[in-house]
Amino acid sequence: MFIFLFFLGSSLASFTICIAYRINHNIPLNGFSVCDACEETINPIYLLPFFGWFLAFGKCKKCFSKIPFKYCFYELFLGIFFIFISDWKILLVGLCLLFLAEEDTFNLESSSWICLPLIFLFYGNFKELNTALLISLFIFLYATTVLFEKMGVGDIPVIVLIFVVFNEIQFIYFLFLLSIIMLLAFMYTKNHRLPMIPFLLITFIFVHVVCLF
Ligand SMILES: [Zn+2]
Repeated sequence: MFIFLFFLGSSLASFTICIAYRINHNIPLNGFSVCDACEETINPIYLLPFFGWFLAFGKCKKCFSKIPFKYCFYELFLGIFFIFISDWKILLVGLCLLFLAEEDTFNLESSSWICLPLIFLFYGNFKELNTALLISLFIFLYATTVLFEKMGVGDIPVIVLIFVVFNEIQFIYFLFLLSIIMLLAFMYTKNHRLPMIPFLLITFIFVHVVCLF
């Protein structure tokens, strides 16, 4: 059962990444997967989620150009995530974040407005106190973005979406862990224009899985 769920999760991840990649590179959504470098059709065995990367030794069989390890990593992470999914909201948010993470890595821009319908959809069971918190969170995030310019405006709906699906404790863990990870990433890379959504995705999944225990 676990293996089945893992495969389902990593296949969904692989599919989501493929869609995001094709949209961002203006490639039609139909047709076989091809190598980025030589445009040769990839043997379906190497398209196997997670394991395909290892079977191909991380390289294209025709031109030997490298296949980014991040895909394999995302498929592993989403596969594990799928085993621990508690409800469909969490799954939907996970896939949405993965899509945006891929876009963000590509050109530091993401169509994060797609979070807005989800925020309104999941907002239904909110109480008045939480409405006040939600508005404060929006204002706080916009203010920090304008003041420090470390975060893109596009990251804001993503954080708000995570706030809506998590409970208070989970969200506090999330912010705490995210701050540490981002701090380490900035120190390690010395790059102040890092795509933030991949970090949001990893932290989101990690906190969701850990809080189940
Ligand atoms: Zn190739």
